[in-house]
Amino acid sequence: MEKTISSQEALELLKEGNKRYVQGTMLQKDFNSKRKELLGFQKPFAIILSCSDSRVVPEFIFDTNIGELFVIRNAGNLAVDKTILGSLEYGAAHLHSALIVILAHQSCGAVCASCDCRGKSQEGNIKYIVKAIAPAAKKSNYEKEKAIIESAKNTAAIILKKSKIISDLYNKGKLNIVVGYYSFEDGSVKFF
Ligand SMILES: [Zn+2]
Repeated sequence: MEKTISSQEALELLKEGNKRYVQGTMLQKDFNSKRKELLGFQKPFAIILSCSDSRVVPEFIFDTNIGELFVIRNAGNLAVDKTILGSLEYGAAHLHSALIVILAHQSCGAVCASCDCRGKSQEGNIKYIVKAIAPAAKKSNYEKEKAIIESAKNTAAIILKKSKIISDLYNKGKLNIVVGYYSFEDGSVKFF
């Protein structure tokens, strides 16, 4: 009964959902019955590593229901911490989601801060976020919108480099990683 959704199919579902979100034609959802249906299991079709920005809500942006997305969030959509890598591995290897989306967004405060201070913040633990984005900021000549995409691509590369579980699945063609860029202006997500 369990249908495996390929990475291409998952990407199509996200694109279709985002189209509905942009057009304001989101599907009617019955959270009560869905919650009960998923009492004993979950089978999300995609893993989203998104920024914590309160305006970036993956479940809304992709017009999904309960149980459809495995979402990990932190400021700057980074994968520096091992618990983030572990969460991604759990989604990929145990829940069998075949697609990871690094969801970046317009005017990301974390990336903008890293560009503004040239990666040299001293503030509390925020400095670790700024520092993690610094190579992408520098490579983009501190041009913020460019750095946002570059940093997300960097995150994808880091995941493949630091997670053997994910890189093995990727090399076998069982999983794909893409970068998404969410526009505040029109609500669209462009995939790279
Ligand atoms: Zn952000």
